[in-house]
Amino acid sequence: MSSLSELYQNVILEHNRSPRNFRPMTDADRKADGHNPLCGDQVTVWVKLEGDVIGDVSFQGAGCAISKASASLMTGAVKGKRREEADALFDRFHRLVTGTLPAGESETLGKLAVFSGVSQFPIRVKCASLSWHTLKAALEGGSPPDRPIA
Ligand code: ZN
Repeated sequence: MSSLSELYQNVILEHNRSPRNFRPMTDADRKADGHNPLCGDQVTVWVKLEGDVIGDVSFQGAGCAISKASASLMTGAVKGKRREEADALFDRFHRLVTGTLPAGESETLGKLAVFSGVSQFPIRVKCASLSWHTLKAALEGGSPPDRPIA
């Protein structure tokens, strides 16, 4: 991983073109907005909880390919997971993109491992982690969509 172009692997480009779960959710339990001023990325994440499980998750936003593809892959990765599993996944993902995940452990991240190259580009770390931080904010008490976001 040495050039920026290598960072944009096919999986990232494809999810940027056709993001998954890219829609507002009218019956969500939680919602949060995230903004990355360094790059201008913006994202809104909606979550529908079924007890302790993330029954559904969606997002909308505008930003760079990394932020959009990361949000798309994030929704696929956490749907159907318990909140603590999603938290643990975010922890591993964050260590992946900051380059502190031990070698060999990136395989436990499945498709999310395509973001390993981000660790070579510190300015892109916030792009890749924005949707995860926003998911966390939503899970930790984001307002329901029918109430204003403080
Ligand atoms: Zn960005």
